[in-house]
Amino acid sequence: MNDREPTIDTKLIHAGEIRPGIEGAVVLPIFQSVNFESMEGEEYHDIKYMRLSNSPNHTVLGAKLAALESAEAAVVSSSGMASITTIFHSLLSAGDHVIFQDCLYGGTYDYAQREFGRHGLSCDFVNGDDPGGWARSLRPETKMIYFETITNPLVQVADLEAVVAFAREHGLISVIDNTFASPINFRPAEIGFDLSLHSGTKYLNGHSDIVCGVVIGRRDLVAKVKKMMNYLGGSLDAHACFLLHRGLKTLAVRVRQQNVSALALAGVLEEHPAVIRVNYPGLASNSGHERARRLFDGFGGMLSFELADGARAAGRLESELRIPVIAPSLGGVESLVTRPAATSHAGLTPQERSAVGVSDGLIRLSVGIEGTDDLVDDFRRALSRI
Ligand code: PLP
Repeated sequence: MNDREPTIDTKLIHAGEIRPGIEGAVVLPIFQSVNFESMEGEEYHDIKYMRLSNSPNHTVLGAKLAALESAEAAVVSSSGMASITTIFHSLLSAGDHVIFQDCLYGGTYDYAQREFGRHGLSCDFVNGDDPGGWARSLRPETKMIYFETITNPLVQVADLEAVVAFAREHGLISVIDNTFASPINFRPAEIGFDLSLHSGTKYLNGHSDIVCGVVIGRRDLVAKVKKMMNYLGGSLDAHACFLLHRGLKTLAVRVRQQNVSALALAGVLEEHPAVIRVNYPGLASNSGHERARRLFDGFGGMLSFELADGARAAGRLESELRIPVIAPSLGGVESLVTRPAATSHAGLTPQERSAVGVSDGLIRLSVGIEGTDDLVDDFRRALSRI
């Protein structure tokens, strides 16, 4: 055995695990205990209590997730939004300003737009491909720059290396929502992001049966996030920790299958006359393609597209498809189809949606792990009937 770093496949199974297992158990049991007996010499800060995210279920997950993204530390939370809002409230103070990428997950966009002001925070939204625009938004009080690896729902890949360089030049904390890529396709710490976060509800757990979040990155920043989470109470419960832990073990095989099927489907959609636009970084025609090839190990399982006949045709396609479930959310083993204007971006006004390029007929597809050929046949058949 040589000393090279294990692959991510091996880390998914073994990183952070307690060995030998407790009572010989191969799988870490659920520590369904809010508190733990005090030990001799234990200090106040050593107290184990479920809200403090320090049970064995939490600490093993933290170590595994940090290893997956080649980062220093990680903490899990009760949802992706708990991770996002706790990052803001732990690392920003009244008066601070944040530069956000303009096409963000609707919940993040909404929160920044509608709640920042009440906390004395301010922000600007910038085009991910225009570093000149980022510089124009910079203020003396700018503290953070926040991007998504692959945006939702337009599946764009911004100039992520430039984000890191810009953050370093101006002393900003760089934060990235890595939900869509998952650590299999992209590990932000490897190109220098300070913090990455996930809606673990999606690919990390992968089975559409729990809500959870993850913050991964620099040890000092993760410690601040964890401390604020102790106050705000966004810890993940032990049973959900167990399910996330179980889901993670198959992340690589799921995501690689999703990468393959999404690329096949994007190709079929792009060639179909009823489709006017396909957003997928794996397509050579996509503006983010070269960047995605350079930075990612796979193009991901998310794509979106628009039909020539707009919202009416989108409705017909949804009713013709047999395999995908018509439902919001993403990253599960089952393919899901949704219309962002009615789900993830419904909180935005029609003007805000149009400004970020989300039309009423846009269809977003989260590709599951069903057979690639079955999915392709299903889309071909449905498209022929709209
Ligand atoms: N980030 C992205 C990219 C998302 O798609 C979502 C939810 O859809 C979130 C964050 C929020 O995650 P959660 O629903 O787990 O709070």
